Amino acid sequence: MKLNFSGLRALVTGAGKGIGRDTVKALHASGAKVVAVTRTNSDLVSLAKECPGIEPVCVDLSDWEATEKALGGIGPVDLLVNNAGVALMQPFIESTKEIFDRSFNVNVRAVLQVSQMVAKGMINRGVPGSIVNISSMVAYVTYPGLATYCSTKGALTMLTKAMAMELGPHKIRVNSVNPTVVLTDMGKKVSANSEFARKLKERHPLRKFAEVEDVVNSILFLLSDSSASTTGSGILVDAGYLAS
Ligand code: NDP
Repeated sequence: MKLNFSGLRALVTGAGKGIGRDTVKALHASGAKVVAVTRTNSDLVSLAKECPGIEPVCVDLSDWEATEKALGGIGPVDLLVNNAGVALMQPFIESTKEIFDRSFNVNVRAVLQVSQMVAKGMINRGVPGSIVNISSMVAYVTYPGLATYCSTKGALTMLTKAMAMELGPHKIRVNSVNPTVVLTDMGKKVSANSEFARKLKERHPLRKFAEVEDVVNSILFLLSDSSASTTGSGILVDAGYLAS
């Protein structure tokens, strides 16, 4: 999707791999200045070679204080993509406090924290903005072994709506993108059983999973003025799964 984000500064979390990395590349190619936030420094080094001029920030977003320190003085941001996430597989009956806390800290709490920092800056500058939260179709349907992960994405649906309601009067829009399986590192891990993956794919009306590019296109649309009247909403990139 060719959109022009020249003159705007974007912040993307989970920028090192998968959907976040391609989102940075697409925003960079569309003229935005991009702050790329992730946990593994070598990913930022290689990304900066591909996208000269990006601003790399290396931080573990599950650490509230470290995130405050790394992003507290981040300066003006117009577009925010809360993409960082972890999908830690555990049957419900074996779910642990550690996995629960880590999952909610990255997938939900960091979204609240980073969005707060960015939205305060937008409000103080009196400028409009757009925030996109990368959720999942499992905000609406369950997935085996992912009770905690599904719960984080369900929580993100309501956080997205609450943020949209409170930030709307400041002309800040907040939406989500909700993909089915995308074969990134994370997607390969959660669909590693080939027989399960084959059956799951067959349940999708389009008989396929989603491509990274499909997700990135929806992110760019929601960031852009092409979706100027859309907030508190979500785009399913699910190959029809929820219709099946
Ligand atoms: P990947 O695992 O491929 O990439 C995730 C990125 O987020 C990595 O760069 C990772 O860094 C970073 N990240 C994870 N935890 C932290 C943290 N604590 N602090 C900073 N950065 C962190 O995942 P995807 O690209 O597949 O997923 C992106 C988003 O899309 C997630 O929110 C996910 O839940 C969602 N999604 C993915 C689907 C899929 O099938 N792939 C389906 C539906 C939704 P590092 O590797 O260094 O930890």
